[in-house]
Amino acid sequence: MTSFRSLFVTLLSTIFTLTILFHYGKLAIHSERYASYPTNPHLFNQGDLYRAGKILDRDGNILAQTINGKREFNSSETIRRATVHTVGDLEGNVATGVHSVYFNELTGYNFVDGVYDSDNSGNDITLTIDTDMCTTAYKALGGYKGTVGVMNWKTGEILCMVSTPTFDPYYTDQADKDAENGVYVNRLLSGQYAPGSTFKVVTALSGIENFSNLDDKYTCKNGVTIGGEWVSCMGNHGSETMQSGLTHSCNSTFAQIGVKLGGNTLLRTAEGLGFNKKVNLGKITCAKSIVNLTNIKDIDLGWASMGQHDDLINPFHYLTVMSAIANDGVLKEPVLVKKVSTPKGTTLKKEGGSDKRLIAKEDAKTLSDMMRKVVTDYYSDSGFSGLETCGKTGTAEVGEDKRPHSWFVGFCRNESKPYAFVVIVENGGMGAGIAKTIASRVLNS
Ligand SMILES: [Zn+2]
Repeated sequence: MTSFRSLFVTLLSTIFTLTILFHYGKLAIHSERYASYPTNPHLFNQGDLYRAGKILDRDGNILAQTINGKREFNSSETIRRATVHTVGDLEGNVATGVHSVYFNELTGYNFVDGVYDSDNSGNDITLTIDTDMCTTAYKALGGYKGTVGVMNWKTGEILCMVSTPTFDPYYTDQADKDAENGVYVNRLLSGQYAPGSTFKVVTALSGIENFSNLDDKYTCKNGVTIGGEWVSCMGNHGSETMQSGLTHSCNSTFAQIGVKLGGNTLLRTAEGLGFNKKVNLGKITCAKSIVNLTNIKDIDLGWASMGQHDDLINPFHYLTVMSAIANDGVLKEPVLVKKVSTPKGTTLKKEGGSDKRLIAKEDAKTLSDMMRKVVTDYYSDSGFSGLETCGKTGTAEVGEDKRPHSWFVGFCRNESKPYAFVVIVENGGMGAGIAKTIASRVLNS
């Protein structure tokens, strides 16, 4: 009963969060735009943003530009749809889009002097995203709602950021009809999801940090009794270690590990990874990942330790966690805006460059090896040939009559493809299936 109750709460809070972010986004952006009108009459031409530079991807492909006083997006509808949550639209519906958040940089507005530079064409913004990879992710998501994020764990660059359902920025009147499905929400940056078993990575790290012996045994008989209540497991795993429990995604093992750690210890690990804290991508504010682990009953701690109870994860935040594990515990500051430059090519601003250690080096290595074994011993490298992929899947129940959300998170250790990744497919069904297939297509693109 406890599981269904907590899952229901999680479902409600996820819907609530998406709804709130959508409305908040409209309000916040519109107030900024309204403020621009009376003082800056040259900025808009009959409602169109005309005084703004280009938005380019990492290879120089133009995603948005001004031609003859009119704002134009990429000529490919597929590329427009794959990148609109990153680039943003002209009405400010995508609150986290570059058009909205980097409005001043794009238009050349100097917020110190309150004036524009002498050149009339604004500044160019070069992004870190790879349009081809975004397009592959968009196509791979097919008709599903969900998100795909890929980050270079060596440099912090965001290579892929796709959210579905999506829309064509030329036709926001049509998209408005889909607003209640969160079409304007960038699910990678603003979503909050029940993580399911992907949270076992956090619990495993806490075990690595705090247990002297990682070979302790945990019993599973299709579940286990915790504090007089039953935690169910999909398998009858008998006796497991932390490693085999992670490989088999055994609920009984991780419920027992969580209770053995205690809520405060698990919370310390989670907060060390950035849970319960504000997360930024450059100037963009993202949603938080949230865990509540203090003053809860053992049974709730057991469920929370495997990603149920009321844990919520922001996909972008989890992408940074995967990135840190891959990079010996050090998180390279995530970067989306590679540079802001004048039309003549002078670089005005670069983002990123700071490092932050989230995990001790040896602990990150141990966890990385454990996640590698999950892939080699359970899923195989099929579909990930040569990438040395480390990962964890998750199935997050969202209610008795709905298919669960499918997660696959991890990273490639192959130095030539230093990719951390997060894939979420809403109502994608049980097991790794669809999320793993999408990850394979994107990482091999
Ligand atoms: Zn089990």
